[in-house]
Amino acid sequence: MDISVVVPLYNEAESLPELHAWISRVMAENNFSYEIIFCNDGSTDGSLRVIKDLAAADPHVRCVSFSRNYGKSPALNEGFLRAQGDVVITMDADLQDSPDEIPELYRMITKDGFDLVSGWKKKRYDPLSKTIPTKLFNATARKVSGIKNLHDFNCGLKAYKKEVVKHIEVYGDMHRYIPYLAKNAGYKKIGEKEVHHQARKYGVTKFGLDRFVNGYLDLATLWFQSKFGIKPMHIFGLLGSVMFFIGFLATLTVLILKIVSMCSADYHFYVTNSVYFYLSLAAMVMGLQFFLTGFIGELITRNSPERNHYLIAEEW
Ligand code: UDP
Ligand code: MG
Repeated sequence: MDISVVVPLYNEAESLPELHAWISRVMAENNFSYEIIFCNDGSTDGSLRVIKDLAAADPHVRCVSFSRNYGKSPALNEGFLRAQGDVVITMDADLQDSPDEIPELYRMITKDGFDLVSGWKKKRYDPLSKTIPTKLFNATARKVSGIKNLHDFNCGLKAYKKEVVKHIEVYGDMHRYIPYLAKNAGYKKIGEKEVHHQARKYGVTKFGLDRFVNGYLDLATLWFQSKFGIKPMHIFGLLGSVMFFIGFLATLTVLILKIVSMCSADYHFYVTNSVYFYLSLAAMVMGLQFFLTGFIGELITRNSPERNHYLIAEEW
């Protein structure tokens, strides 16, 4: 099979027949063998009914359906688990992404050898309240992830080599950072294609402004995981050691001052009046906390069956 189109959707009943007809037309024009996997994320507006009707009339249509709303990332992940095509294409269900981009995306994966090609909505048809924070968000994501050539991390329209989607797990709200997940899994050939974007025709957006707060927290998590995910002691142990060293110096200072004061008749040094005393206490306690966190982190990674799953090895 050439292509799997994975479509996560939450309450998009009105768009689905149009989207299905559009994808089918593009596939037929280009003679692709394909499947469309609709990932219904607990819709309550009859989307599932629409998908069932589409599936009854068209054998290319498959569906995976959640009983409640879990989020776009888990929906995509279910689609990825089931995809059979050599190239996997994701697109939003709201008709904001154009299926006409599919042939070129397919060519970039199969001919140009990209592992992942991300769409870039250069001209966006979204409100300003979304487009301006998005620019900031993408600049930060580029910096932190080191994927310097992407302008639009969160574009719903993306194409992947099949093995890429089989080696990444999209969970929580991590769909915003799939290129970063792919890079961390060892897939570095990441490209970009300018894509047409349209204003939402039916329904409403499912993400509010909290997307930016959550987005930054997730980015911090991913950065931490990629740096220290399998060796947490390397960061916590370092911080703990620095704290202990500061604590040691402060204790030494207290000791010396005390000895000096004991040897002198007119200099009185009270330990509990000294800033160094409190510094040594605080630093020692914090140092210990860092070390304990590091040990617990190591125990968790040691017992995790996935501790070596990040390795993608080839064998001859
Ligand atoms: N979506 C989903 N689960 C959710 C929220 C969104 O499957 O909990 C789908 C939604 O139906 C759409 C895609 O994710 O197909 C992108 O959502 P939306 O268009 O609301 O995002 P925006 O374009 O406003 O960034
Ligand atoms: Mg949308």
